[in-house]
Amino acid sequence: MSVIYNKVALVGLGLIASSMFWAMKRRGLAGTVSGFARSAETRDTARRIGLCDTVCDSLADAVKDADLVVLAVPVGAMGEVAAEIAPHLKPGATVTDVGSVKRAVIDSVGPHIPDGVHFVPGHPLAGTEHSGPESGFATLFDNRWCLLVPMPGSDPAAVATLRTYWEGLGSYVDEMEVDHHDLVLAVTSHAPHLIAYTMVGVADDLNRVTDSEVIKYSATGFRDFTRIAASDPTMWRDVFLNNKDATLEILGRFTEELFALQRAIRTGDGALLQDYFTRTRAIRRGIIEAGQDTDAPDFGRAKVER
Ligand code: NAP
Repeated sequence: MSVIYNKVALVGLGLIASSMFWAMKRRGLAGTVSGFARSAETRDTARRIGLCDTVCDSLADAVKDADLVVLAVPVGAMGEVAAEIAPHLKPGATVTDVGSVKRAVIDSVGPHIPDGVHFVPGHPLAGTEHSGPESGFATLFDNRWCLLVPMPGSDPAAVATLRTYWEGLGSYVDEMEVDHHDLVLAVTSHAPHLIAYTMVGVADDLNRVTDSEVIKYSATGFRDFTRIAASDPTMWRDVFLNNKDATLEILGRFTEELFALQRAIRTGDGALLQDYFTRTRAIRRGIIEAGQDTDAPDFGRAKVER
């Protein structure tokens, strides 16, 4: 593939930005890539592992002359970063972000974007429980969806170029309306994370089962919650604080369903449980058929030898 943006600036150098860098290099999507992280430690790590062509010590230097600026910091930090880069953006540049919540990012970043600069919010639906500059890899976005959330009046050419760029990174691309995005993600990502955090917290608090038993026998189900519950605390704190309404709506529905299942267990309503679990099994089948997960038993995990 040929160069799509002459200069790309990555602001924040964690899992998502570093994966974007390696994916850009794989396909030659950018002439040059500059990067900035707030801590000297992350910048030093980036330099050591060759993450970005140039690692800058200031935001202004990183975004100078960039054709695409990617905000890849926690959702709660986006507004502050946007305010700082605004005076240094090149006219005609595109600013995008990869934040997991869209309404809050649009409200906090949008007002800082100068006239003549395009703001096209985005969200790659790909990730792992790892974070930081060393956690990225070139194939993270392959066959995963990236949602673009153009603003009313967004320049169609800027949106189209960003779409081609994400396709070059390996993603399928869809456009979505902002509030619908936040609701869909509350169902598919945010509420499930909160439930996983809660389940792991419950196991930790329960003193009738020892910690060593929980860990030793975790392959029976608990282990799958722990992967999600190991995700970055700052990122997820910001997701919940910034997608309050949609997450609370889904958690309200979740609680009702939980009570219904609790009641079925207490009253011995096996038919209800059977129907419910048959329905949910079909959803798993749908995800596999859509190519979004493997059909291999235990998610295709290799057996861990002791
Ligand atoms: P990450 O690996 O934890 O990296 C976060 C980066 O942001 C680091 O470079 C960090 O700098 C910087 N940062 C943290 N707090 C900051 C602040 N207050 N001001 C300025 N910079 C700050 O995070 P990530 O997983 O790449 O996530 C980045 C964004 O992508 C988030 O908005 C997240 O919602 C979104 N996202 C994540 C996933 C996922 O699964 N991880 C998936 C899709 C979208 P230092 O290293 O110097 O501290």
